Amino acid sequence: MHPLLENDKQDLRQILSNTVTLAEEYLAQQESLPPGRFIKDIPLEDIPERGESALHALEYFKQHYAPYITNSAGPRYFGFVTGGSTPAAVAGDWLVSAYDQNACGSNDSIAPQVERQTIHFFKQLFGLDDIYFGSFVTGATVSNQVGLALGRQWVGEQYGKDFSAEGSYNVLPVKVVSATPHSSILKSMAILGMGRNTLVKIDTLPDREAIDIVALEKYLQTVNEPVIVVANAGTVNTVDFDDLEAIGKLKAKYPFWLHIDAAFGGFAVLSKKYTHLVQGINHGDSITIDAHKWLNVPYDAAMQFTRHKRIQLKVFQNSAAYLGDPEQSPDYFHYTPENSRRWRALPSWFTLKAYGREGHREIVERNCDTAYSLGEKIKQSSEFRLLAPVRMNVVCFTLNQEGVTFDGIRAYLSAIRDDGRAFFTPTLYKGVPAIRAAISNWQTTEADIQLAFDVLTEVYQTQKHTLIPA
Ligand SMILES: *Cc1c(COP(=O)(O)O)cnc(C)c1O
Repeated sequence: MHPLLENDKQDLRQILSNTVTLAEEYLAQQESLPPGRFIKDIPLEDIPERGESALHALEYFKQHYAPYITNSAGPRYFGFVTGGSTPAAVAGDWLVSAYDQNACGSNDSIAPQVERQTIHFFKQLFGLDDIYFGSFVTGATVSNQVGLALGRQWVGEQYGKDFSAEGSYNVLPVKVVSATPHSSILKSMAILGMGRNTLVKIDTLPDREAIDIVALEKYLQTVNEPVIVVANAGTVNTVDFDDLEAIGKLKAKYPFWLHIDAAFGGFAVLSKKYTHLVQGINHGDSITIDAHKWLNVPYDAAMQFTRHKRIQLKVFQNSAAYLGDPEQSPDYFHYTPENSRRWRALPSWFTLKAYGREGHREIVERNCDTAYSLGEKIKQSSEFRLLAPVRMNVVCFTLNQEGVTFDGIRAYLSAIRDDGRAFFTPTLYKGVPAIRAAISNWQTTEADIQLAFDVLTEVYQTQKHTLIPA
């Protein structure tokens, strides 16, 4: 063994303890560190021929990189849909690395058993029927990709074809139909060779992002062939929901695979006020739900669910002889996109065990309440204009000024980022350059929202003359 490794084995306690100290220093400052930052490309160094030990690496990291960490896990980062990490989830995540299990065989390690337990918690949380099979993947993008791959296999079967064995060449393209899909649906179509330009867009209801059911039915009637319908349960701009119950009912009349992207909207189930939005989720042949967003576990963790485990086996079966019978351990090899798998269920298990349904309900409801309150402030202001009602945890608004371009919004948000007290990301909402505030962090309180609104107003006063092209 190399002497450096030998020494580090002896020093393990010190290494871990110094690491805890550094992590604690960061976590203790989450209230005040800037939530967003512009990080310049750093000069690249050559790989060291001789190392200097873990403690040296840690010290170097602490001096050179730690001071520039983006505080995106803090309470005033409102970009994209970004959760933080609850204390229990961080603890769980550390153990994942310490134990370094390969979670691929149900009976070879406790890791996949705990994954099964965690999936069971989630099935109860989301009210999913027993029949659903679920597993962890890296994110909602991969989960969407799994759902579309299963849907394509199902469509092939309707024609007596096995796409997983024969490929889907020389057959009609499989149609994917949706109203306001997340960009990752298009990306998944590209990865799967289905072609992002082939998406069939159905109209939304007026002033909504939710699908017009009448238009969908008309399409299904006309196309008269098995397709994949992607229903959106929580759009990123305005958290709008397709009517899952109504779409589900169409399955009795028309053949389609229903994939539901409930990446963060699925958590509506936690609140009495919002749970009706996900009613009908059990109609989904496949379902996507993210954990690293609104459950507040560290990246990366999402879940994919399907009612059709048999089809999942068709698509993901790994035929290597040494992997054996798919019903026997190591079984996950045959059902998931990965072969070797991180124990990424554990942080979710920790946070659900630690805080329960009630603890996570409180996070979701507080986030929605604060979003509503930000929406009210914006409505009452003269500087800003709300673009859609605040439905759950996202506020979509713009500057109340003629001629503001997307670049103008970007410049304004960069100035806010550089101010260092809050962070937002831009979007286009029905063609209008806009700002999104997505509130999905367990630490965000009403005081953070007041501060964020003050920053929005103050920075606008100093920047307003620079935001429109001369
Ligand atoms: C975030 C999001 C995705 C993509 O999720 P990743 O975890 O970033 O891969 C897909 N769909 C919806 C609705 C989302 O909000």
